[in-house]
Amino acid sequence: MAAKRDYYEILGVSKSATDDELKKAYRKLAMKYHPDRNPDNQEAGEKFKEVCEAYEVLSDTQKRQRYDQFGHDGVKSSFGPGGFDFGRDFTHAGDFGDIFETIFGGGFADMFGGGGSRRQRRSSGGAQRGDDLRFDLEIDFEEALFGSERQLDLKINDSCPACHGSGAAPGSGRESCRQCGGQGFVVAGGGFFQVRQPCPICHGEGSIVKNPCPTCHGNGRVKAPRHITLRIPKGVETGSKLRLTGKGESGIRGGPPGDIYVVLHVREHKIFERHGDELACSVPVSPVTAALGGEIQIPTPDGYARIKLPAGTPNGKILRLRGKGMPSLHGRTGDLHLRIELETPVKLNSRQKKALRDFEEQSGESNFAETARLRKSVENFYKRRDALRKKS
Ligand SMILES: [Zn+2]
Ligand SMILES: [Zn+2]
Repeated sequence: MAAKRDYYEILGVSKSATDDELKKAYRKLAMKYHPDRNPDNQEAGEKFKEVCEAYEVLSDTQKRQRYDQFGHDGVKSSFGPGGFDFGRDFTHAGDFGDIFETIFGGGFADMFGGGGSRRQRRSSGGAQRGDDLRFDLEIDFEEALFGSERQLDLKINDSCPACHGSGAAPGSGRESCRQCGGQGFVVAGGGFFQVRQPCPICHGEGSIVKNPCPTCHGNGRVKAPRHITLRIPKGVETGSKLRLTGKGESGIRGGPPGDIYVVLHVREHKIFERHGDELACSVPVSPVTAALGGEIQIPTPDGYARIKLPAGTPNGKILRLRGKGMPSLHGRTGDLHLRIELETPVKLNSRQKKALRDFEEQSGESNFAETARLRKSVENFYKRRDALRKKS
């Protein structure tokens, strides 16, 4: 079996092709290779299947994303034997639902109205579910930590107000599609692998507009501003997806609207470093406090806290504050890890210098055990070296 061709190549479009460009390329090629126009031409039949398959994947935002990321493996198609169809609206297949659960934990999906039964993209009467949309949103670390609300100002395909979404000019109607005889689908391929395809002329609707509505040019939809309030729950991380059920593109001819998926990207923070639900933070401490012990003030997400450092705290010591880390979508709040970093004092005045020199004069090996240990090791090393040199 030959290697599968790249879907973009098949449709002759660039990787950044818009939905419109895809649709146009698909229509052109589907008409060219349509089995009705190429009877007994097996090559055209194969090409037709290829084109339909490529369009099925690339016209679906989610599938296209997976294809861009994983190639053909990401979108095992329903076309070949043993393939698996994720379903056009793959939340319907339960498959995205699982991913959603993994990301957010149980119960969370319900906050956004998800988790219930999903709608079919296409139902009877030509009604068609609106497209799902994906948006990427960059948020501050604080928003992920405390949760927030964002106003999204989007432009979304909405039902055309002039024709109420029918696509037909006022006073005119639709007529049955001649290509598919009003069925909305055509049968492609031959022999064992016969597949039903949405009709490329009427896009599966079974009818076409006779006089297109001047406002929407027959699309039945126009771009309209949409203001959406997005609730960002505590604990989200980069890659978290929030679903806004029914806020996507409006459906066609009474079809339900699609959903919006907002993919979050959390900015890094100056104070806290995040590792999953754990937070880490460096705390500079005076060598005097580290030596004598004492209380220090440390930042936590809830506010300043005071903790006691024991006398003789070494540089690099890690202290853990339970439950002061990142709130988790799964219910448990992580810990805060504080790394003690001794800060060398600078800009000393003469009194300070004298005090430190006095201290140094009185210090000995017992005060600086590490220094003493290293000196001893180095001395042993040289002794060994000298002994070996004498022998050789
Ligand atoms: Zn219109
Ligand atoms: Zn048709």
